Amino acid sequence: MNYCLKCGAEFFDDIDRCSECDEALVSEQVWQKSVAKKKTEDREFFVKVKTVENQFEADTVKDALEKEGIPVLVRSFHDTSFNGIFIPQKGWGIILVPDEHLKKAEGVIEEFYRQGDLTT
Ligand SMILES: [Zn+2]
Repeated sequence: MNYCLKCGAEFFDDIDRCSECDEALVSEQVWQKSVAKKKTEDREFFVKVKTVENQFEADTVKDALEKEGIPVLVRSFHDTSFNGIFIPQKGWGIILVPDEHLKKAEGVIEEFYRQGDLTT
């Protein structure tokens, strides 16, 4: 299969241009590399704002942040996609927010824990 880097469409091997974008198609190998690179870039865009002890805590913190309109990523240390990236450590996982929302997120979390909403 060949792939269009622009729109991600998949084509048979005998086709070498995307019918939508008129872009030259790339091999599956090149496509996979570009997808992996994009994933890494997405991940770097998010920064850790809090380590949580369990899934319940992760969910409640996530809710609090999303209520403030902050996009949230929750990553468990047990998540297989993190293999080789995280050394096993204390806690259940981490909460990540986009770089640009970090300050606001820290404020929300501080307020959240001060209110003692968590039954830890
Ligand atoms: Zn295309």
